[in-house]
Amino acid sequence: MRQSQLFTKTRKEAPSDETAKSAKLLIRAGFVFKEQAGVYSMLPLGLRVQNKIVSIIRREMNAIDGQEVSMTALQDPELWKTSGRWDDKVVDNWFKTKLKNDTELGLSFSHEEPLTRIMKQFIGSYRDLPKFVYQFQTKFRNELRAKSGLLRGREFLMKDLYSFTKDTADLDIFYERAAEAYKKIYNAVGIGHVTYKTFASGGVFTKYSHEFQTLTDAGEDTIYLAKDKSVAINKEVYNDEALTMYKKTTKDFDEVKAIEVGNIFKLGTQYSEPLGLTFADETGKHHPVVMGCYGIGLGRLLATVVEVLGDEKGLVWPKAIAPFDVHVVELNPKQDSVISSGVRDLIVSLEQEGIEVLHDDRIDATAGQKFADSDLIGIPMRVVVSSKTVAAKAFEIVDRASGKVSAGDATEILRSLK
Ligand code: ATP
Ligand code: MG
Repeated sequence: MRQSQLFTKTRKEAPSDETAKSAKLLIRAGFVFKEQAGVYSMLPLGLRVQNKIVSIIRREMNAIDGQEVSMTALQDPELWKTSGRWDDKVVDNWFKTKLKNDTELGLSFSHEEPLTRIMKQFIGSYRDLPKFVYQFQTKFRNELRAKSGLLRGREFLMKDLYSFTKDTADLDIFYERAAEAYKKIYNAVGIGHVTYKTFASGGVFTKYSHEFQTLTDAGEDTIYLAKDKSVAINKEVYNDEALTMYKKTTKDFDEVKAIEVGNIFKLGTQYSEPLGLTFADETGKHHPVVMGCYGIGLGRLLATVVEVLGDEKGLVWPKAIAPFDVHVVELNPKQDSVISSGVRDLIVSLEQEGIEVLHDDRIDATAGQKFADSDLIGIPMRVVVSSKTVAAKAFEIVDRASGKVSAGDATEILRSLK
């Protein structure tokens, strides 16, 4: 892609009401557009990152036998009245709307109820279980405070998976598989080293759940992390019971700030019972299906990567989710020059190997502006092409994360990308 053709441009300042580092950088680099507090549109560079995160999550959800669906945002109140969750006193962040004839509708903040209703049509016997269903879908939440950019949106994309099993033993097995899949996801997007499976509060069915918490001062949550990193406990459930369970004392822990980048939750029969999702066992006896839910907020995850890896110069993307693999920065581009043909050859040889290249071919930007923009956009590898580097047949290669500079030709660039 040629940068001169990209409709977005970088900007010097973020909106003054934006306080989160991640939101500031993503807006300045032209990855997202702020529509209003807690509401963001994805622009080409941001969408490329989001799509790569989606692919990683999809791969891991398929690997644990998830089947992908896409449910609707518009919700039928009757369904939610059956589970008791239509009431604003029970769920305080509903967005509700109306049809022309005054019939009420809700905008989905979650999907337990509608998916349970779908599954009622397809699950009848123990032979139909277990089943695991997931989607990437927009959630609407009328959050009281939406001051943290994409970390807490009022409209955001979530991966939500729901498990349907015949008993708690099968639920427990899947719960552990989901936790392992989550670890792979956080490793793949570059925050595995600071993300901890954290003991957290639960719901009706189990007292406890688990959150995946990423350490950063930008976090809204407070967790207690064992000094040996073996255990993490959310402040909400940091009590004698939890300490006894882990055979630890308060001296073993540090208090730290963290962002909840995902959670896994045992629902039991909280929704299957009121909504009547049952299965017949071998003897024909009916039982409510045992459920679990497993969520990851895409925008929050993307912004968390920025909080953790971004530096004073801008975004720093890990290879797996970078909008492009290589940023070819051409200094003083001129048509039909020796440099330009050198650049063309380089880009062709990279693209033939499946490497995605953003080519800064702008003629109206100085070298200084190009370097600053390149740092801000944060593509992992920058290749500087100038008359000097073309003549020497060795391009200047800059690693965005470390700032390390080396020189090499297309073959060497490809080798270091492998
Ligand atoms: P929180 O405690 O942060 O309000 P939650 O416990 O309500 O989140 P869930 O309803 O379980 O979260 O949603 C699953 C995942 O969706 C969370 O782990 C988080 O990654 C993400 N998420 C939740 N709320 C938001 C939001 N307002 N904006 C962006 N992502 C969110
Ligand atoms: Mg939570």
